Amino acid sequence: MIPAPFDYLAPTSVADALAALAEHGDDAKIIAGGQSLLPVLRMRLNAPEVLVDLGRIPSLRGIREEGDEIVVGAMTPHATVGADPLLAEHAALVGRAVEHLADAQIRHRGTFGGALAHADPAGDLGAVALALDARFVIAGPAGTRTVPAEEFFVDLFETALGEDEILTEVRLPKHTGWGAHYEKFVRVAHQWPIVAVAATVRVEGGAIAEARIGLTNMGNTPLRARAMEEALAGQPLTEDAVASAAALATDGTAPPSDLNGDADYRRHLATVLTRRAVLAAAGA
Ligand SMILES: Cc1cc2nc3c(=O)[nH]c(=O)nc-3n(C[C@H](O)[C@H](O)[C@H](O)COP(=O)(O)OP(=O)(O)OC[C@H]3O[C@@H](n4cnc5c(N)ncnc54)[C@H](O)[C@@H]3O)c2cc1C
Repeated sequence: MIPAPFDYLAPTSVADALAALAEHGDDAKIIAGGQSLLPVLRMRLNAPEVLVDLGRIPSLRGIREEGDEIVVGAMTPHATVGADPLLAEHAALVGRAVEHLADAQIRHRGTFGGALAHADPAGDLGAVALALDARFVIAGPAGTRTVPAEEFFVDLFETALGEDEILTEVRLPKHTGWGAHYEKFVRVAHQWPIVAVAATVRVEGGAIAEARIGLTNMGNTPLRARAMEEALAGQPLTEDAVASAAALATDGTAPPSDLNGDADYRRHLATVLTRRAVLAAAGA
C-alpha cells in the first residue's frame, strides 16, 4: 500500500527539529531510518501530516568515549554500531546483539536510537540497554534531560519520550573486561526473537563476580533478570551453579502468548537461554 500524503521536513539541527515538532504538534512524526515507521505508514496504521527526518543532523551520528561512558548518537546506524571498536572494547554486549539484528540492509538503514525509541518488546536493543544501565539523553522544548534505562521503557511501544521530544544519544557505562553474549531464539533467520537474552558477566578467579542479564520479549518492555543476577553473584563458574540460578530467570516476567509460542513456552525458553547466555558470556 502507499502511505497517506505527508509533508516532509529535513532540519539540519536538533533545535530546528524541535521547532518543527513544536509547530506541528500531534500531526508530526519523527522519521529516523524508517525501518519500523515506513511499514506502519504503508499499512496506514498511522498517517502523520508531517514527517520530520533526523537524517541530516550530523550531531546525532557517531560514537565517542566520554569518561566512564561510551556515547552513541541516536542516528548512528546499526551497522556502524556493530563494527565500532570502542563499543567492542567497553560494551561488547552491544555488538553481540547487533550481529543478530535483522539483515544487512536493515542494519545499514535502521538506527540505534530509532530502534530504542520504537520500543518493540521483541526489539533486540532494549534488553542490551537495560543490562548495561544505559542513560537516554532526550532533548525537548524545556531543554535536555537524562532518563535511566529502567525508566525509559514504559509499556508496549511506549517510552518516556514525549511527542515533542527527540532522543539525541544513549550513554553506555563502560563494562571493560566483561564477557558478553546475546542468545536469540528465532523461528526464521533475520527476524525478531521469540525470546532473547542479553548477558554480560565479570569473572574473577573462576567465580562470577557480577552478572547483568536483560530479557527480550518476556513482557511489554525489556526486563532485567534480577533474581538470577543476585543468585549468580559470587558463585563458582560451573554449569550446575548457572543452571540453578537460571531457574530464577523468569521471576517478575509476564511473557505474551502468540502464534510463535505461549507464555509457558517462553518461560521455558528464558530458562534455557539465560543459562546458555551466561555460560557463553563467561567464556565457560
Ligand atoms: C524485516 C525487518 C526485520 C527486522 N528485524 C529486527 C530484529 O531482528 N531485531 C530488532 O531489534 N529490530 C528489527 N527490525 C527493526 C529495525 O531494528 C529498525 O531499525 C528499528 O526498529 C527502527 O529504527 P529506525 O531508525 O528505522 O526508526 P524509524 O522506523 O524511523 O522510527 C521508529 C519509531 O521511533 C521514532 N523515533 C526514531 N528515532 C527517534 C529519535 N531519535 N527520537 C525520538 N523518536 C524517534 C519514530 O518516530 C518512530 O515512531 C526489523 C525491521 C524490519 C523491517
